Amino acid sequence: MRALQFSGEGHAAVVERAMPVPAAGEVLLQIRRTALCGSDIKLWRKGAAQVPGHEIFGVVQQPGHALHGQRSVVYIPVHCGRCSACLAGFTQCCETESTLMGWNRDGGYAEFVAVPQQCLLPVPDDIDDDLAPLLLDTTGTAAHGLRLVHRLLPPPATARVLVTGAGPVGLGGLLALLDAGFTNVTVADPRPARQQLARELGAQGVLPVGDLTQRFDLVVECSGQHAARDQALHIVAPHGVVLWVGESDEPWLVHETKAVRRKDFFLVRSFYFPKSEHAENIELIRRHRDAYRRLVDHRFDLAELPAEFERFVRGERLKPLMMA
Ligand SMILES: [Zn+2]
Ligand SMILES: [Zn+2]
Repeated sequence: MRALQFSGEGHAAVVERAMPVPAAGEVLLQIRRTALCGSDIKLWRKGAAQVPGHEIFGVVQQPGHALHGQRSVVYIPVHCGRCSACLAGFTQCCETESTLMGWNRDGGYAEFVAVPQQCLLPVPDDIDDDLAPLLLDTTGTAAHGLRLVHRLLPPPATARVLVTGAGPVGLGGLLALLDAGFTNVTVADPRPARQQLARELGAQGVLPVGDLTQRFDLVVECSGQHAARDQALHIVAPHGVVLWVGESDEPWLVHETKAVRRKDFFLVRSFYFPKSEHAENIELIRRHRDAYRRLVDHRFDLAELPAEFERFVRGERLKPLMMA
């Protein structure tokens, strides 16, 4: 089969790989769509032994198996199902298993992938192939973080909300915020096209990135940039919440200035989402299908993946989909 290989320093090529052979408890998935994700850029730079790609949608291709033909997205974290986190339903926080699909085992920039059955999330027929991959990072990650925030800050329409970073997770966060009843949402991003899209999707205000003096009851940090993280701690209002969703491998040092120290506030880190939220995420997409569809700005064949990945790295695409 054809699969993408990242060999480091931005070198990517489509190569021939042996067909995956599913182990016990696994099934073969024929991939239909894999969404490109900014977090893959580190693998593009570093190189990867495994097939990258972790926002995967496909159809189980295993004649005779009970799941044959099931349209499914792939839940990234492999999990034990027995530790206290798994038993409490926090399948993304498993205490004993740390394997992630597309990271330390083969993922979705390919024609086929072997998937543990526990990582198959069924996709109903009314969620079409182009929307299906958005059930993962774009909807799942953003909405899960906000579900944690709701425990601390219920959504009054007056709450001042700032989203920093208008990538797919930030814009997915905007849609989940609006769905939850937050209406006063501002989005900060340096790119004018992203600001424009945020406004069209319902952001009340848009800002370039820079020094802000306003205070916000909720700051949803989706950029992973240290400057944005620092700013979030400074501008969160007393008894407000900073939701930390963006990722970075670089050490982040917090300078605890008076603006940070002299107030009560909550800092919430969230990672991905528990499997139990899949049904709610489907409903979220159903309620705002057309808005989510706007995030997908390009589709292309697997053969074009090396060139398309470069375009994505240059910021020319928002949420492109590879079609296998
Ligand atoms: Zn992703
Ligand atoms: Zn576990």
